[in-house]
Amino acid sequence: MSVNSVNLSDRISGSLFGLVLCDSLGAAVEGQSPESFDQVKTLRGGGKFQLKPGQFTDDGSMALCLAFALLGSEIDNPVIHPSIVQMNLYRRWYESGYLSSTGECFDIGMTVRAALNKFVSHYDQAKSDKLSSADAYYGSTSSHASGNGSLMRLAPVPLLYHRDPLNAMNEAINSSKTTHASQLCLDSCRVYTGLIIGALQGATKEELLNSDQLYVPAGLSHDYWTTKTASLLESPVLAVMNGSYKHRNPPEIKASGFVIETMEAALWAFYHTNSFEEGALKAVNLGNDADTVGAVYGMLAGAYYGINAIPIEWREKCSFQGLVQTIADEILTQSQQIAENGEKKVAPSNQTSLLYRSVLKVYNELAAFYSGTIKRRVLPCPKQYKSSQQFDEDIMQFHSIYDNILNSIKQLEEWAETTTNDEKQLVLSRSDSILKQYLCLIEEDQHSLTIKWSRNSNHSQVHKHLAASNCS
Ligand SMILES: [Mg+2]
Repeated sequence: MSVNSVNLSDRISGSLFGLVLCDSLGAAVEGQSPESFDQVKTLRGGGKFQLKPGQFTDDGSMALCLAFALLGSEIDNPVIHPSIVQMNLYRRWYESGYLSSTGECFDIGMTVRAALNKFVSHYDQAKSDKLSSADAYYGSTSSHASGNGSLMRLAPVPLLYHRDPLNAMNEAINSSKTTHASQLCLDSCRVYTGLIIGALQGATKEELLNSDQLYVPAGLSHDYWTTKTASLLESPVLAVMNGSYKHRNPPEIKASGFVIETMEAALWAFYHTNSFEEGALKAVNLGNDADTVGAVYGMLAGAYYGINAIPIEWREKCSFQGLVQTIADEILTQSQQIAENGEKKVAPSNQTSLLYRSVLKVYNELAAFYSGTIKRRVLPCPKQYKSSQQFDEDIMQFHSIYDNILNSIKQLEEWAETTTNDEKQLVLSRSDSILKQYLCLIEEDQHSLTIKWSRNSNHSQVHKHLAASNCS
């Protein structure tokens, strides 16, 4: 299929899965110098965090947190500034592994950590009446703090606001300022937002990467990048957008943590290849910050080539695939509701679709019990599991929580009245996929427990449930 005929839905899914899966692809060689590893040829897992194929790192988790913040989540409060909603979700990821592929936060960049620590101490001390007007822009403005941590999670912004590019540019800046407020970071997020919107609009690669004239997506004035009202781009950003990556190669192209070099490396992989997969492998085989260069490449290439260009065997291995797809679906739905030149505030959670709300509820409740009880008691602590019986009891409770949520969803009025059978089926199958994903994590936890339980596996509920989860 020609990339010109890819529909919007496939481009949005392609971008979100592209980010998450290329993060996972690169995680296998993260931190390694380019000549020191066997070339990555497919999703293979391993790497410094010993992940399973399809498990993503901080890039993927933070992107999903950002998506939740923009789409409307259960912790929304209409009087709270959207940046606080965003930071609260990052905090949940940092403190309890929310939206992590492994159920815990196992990697976090220095700049993100510094901003989150500041946020946590200010937020917890602030009086609630002060929170209504406060924002949570805790990113350093120093040019020395120009890491790639806000660019790596950017995709939900252009995907959601693509019909209103000017607003998308502002939201790109706002989303970055929470953790990365240097001008280089803000500019990188803006130009990359323009490229992703262009890809969604069906622009050709030649148009997107035109070195003579910076690409301006439809909906913005043609002189957007050159008028002072939009603030002129910093020269390192301009150098990349003028095509530095077209005539450079490694070692000049570097997969470092510096936002400019990350963006240059991602565009280098995109420019010099002709398929999603070829570019993804070129990006991550740079090593070093391979996962992030992968994520940055993947969010643009996925929007450009569409979801069907991402190898099916990669998509099938994606951690929390049903959740990621549900987020992509909701982004599509809500993006259509944004009128051109209109404004979109954070949606109250009751204005989101039933599919999104239901799948989110399943995820949230299972995540809370997994992180707060099971995972916590697997790790050394006073209440660590001492016997297989305790473990079994919690797994049984985990299942009953799941059954209760599904029952409560089925009792909703709109479930009975307006929901089609296809929609109901989708809610059930995506919910089931989340349960299975957690059972796989629980199975790994079981292996990692240091206490060897004497157990009769024939009678073990754990064994029975885990065997049904088909973990690979
Ligand atoms: Mg990472």
